[in-house]
Amino acid sequence: MAPSLKSARLFERASSLMPGGVNSPVRMFDPYPFFTKKAGGSKLHDVDGNKYIDYCMGYGAILFGHNYPPILEVVKGQLDSGTVFGTPTEAEVRLAELLTDSVPCAEMVRLSNSGAEATMHAIRLARGYTGRRRLVKFDGCYHGAHDSVLVKAGSGAASFGVPTSRGVPEETAKNTLVLPYNNVQALHQAFEKEGHGVAAIIVEPIIGNMGVILPSEGYLQELRKVANETGALLIFDEVITGFRIGLGGAQEYYGVKPDLATLGKVMGGGFPISAIVGKRKIMEAFSPVGEVYAAGTFSGNPVSVTAAIATLTELEKERSRLYRNLEKITAGLTANIMELFAGTKIEVHANSIASMFTIFFTRKPVINSETALSSDRSTFKKFHRALMKRGVFFPPSQFETCFVSASHSEEDLQSTVESVDSALKEL
Ligand code: PMP
Repeated sequence: MAPSLKSARLFERASSLMPGGVNSPVRMFDPYPFFTKKAGGSKLHDVDGNKYIDYCMGYGAILFGHNYPPILEVVKGQLDSGTVFGTPTEAEVRLAELLTDSVPCAEMVRLSNSGAEATMHAIRLARGYTGRRRLVKFDGCYHGAHDSVLVKAGSGAASFGVPTSRGVPEETAKNTLVLPYNNVQALHQAFEKEGHGVAAIIVEPIIGNMGVILPSEGYLQELRKVANETGALLIFDEVITGFRIGLGGAQEYYGVKPDLATLGKVMGGGFPISAIVGKRKIMEAFSPVGEVYAAGTFSGNPVSVTAAIATLTELEKERSRLYRNLEKITAGLTANIMELFAGTKIEVHANSIASMFTIFFTRKPVINSETALSSDRSTFKKFHRALMKRGVFFPPSQFETCFVSASHSEEDLQSTVESVDSALKEL
């Protein structure tokens, strides 16, 4: 690996101009992050000429691989026709058809630009529709950087020790009830006490923001039941799991239909777009039919919409082979890494599903935020750094998920396992 002189210099310049030198906190890691020049397939190339096998994959936004030609070509074709119109387009209608065809709960669609925007609008919709104020979320779930959900949040918020952000008004935080994930008893207790004021239960059906944490058997069904009994809406935040677990996301995989779902990341094929989807009678509470306001200058812009149509079309075409293959290679890679750790004294636990995996530096099975937090983060940091030196880029926090893409080759996987083997000597 070439010494990262240019990255070091860029970081110095960046730090005097941008807080922490970055535009999203989790991108910062010690002593400074490498600065990426370009990406292609499974690789990132930095400004110092280093190449990395990427398992961050734009924090899960990339499923096919960076710069996937079938998506890029269609997007390039769109650029000549315009980038933002401020009027409806046929492409938005086509995308809404594709979304309602593939996501079980999607009867109607409202497009937005980022995951945070989608969950913000979905929560407002739930409050407007039910006339209730309270929100139930789960410790360690991350739903974007906005006030109602920056309470005991995962992702960068957990990594930097500010799960409940300063600046969130107490009046807002107090309307967000935080429960431990995968704990049915805590769920029932909370709803017995104050269930009838709850507008929505929002959950990552598979947590991706404390590392990967899977729902225990029957847990999502229990959330559905409690929501039905109390009149709360069930919102699945599928910004990570949508189109990654399968075409119909986690709701299809587990056979639980939420009232609303939020989608983002994979759906845009590398471009910024998100969606709120759900039951017709709830969705029609959105303005201009109903009185819940949600809007955006760039919502449904033709560039991102074209990328999303190309992505969903490719996914539809490739689905039977693609998802099976991704699951197989991810499970294989995880097992190979675990086997290497088994030959050491370092205690680890792995969670994996579809193309997502996390190696937790703890002996305990990781089933919620508390068990994830039992991980030895200083060993994770050493591991991350040792891998980076060997040309493998894992997301820089114990509480983020590794993503495998369709462009990761046999050779990439083999080389990753060799790098892990050699990195272990530095722990
Ligand atoms: N929900 C989930 C489940 C996420 O993982 C994220 C981002 N990691 C968000 C919402 C927020 O999305 P964005 O960063 O696009 O605002």
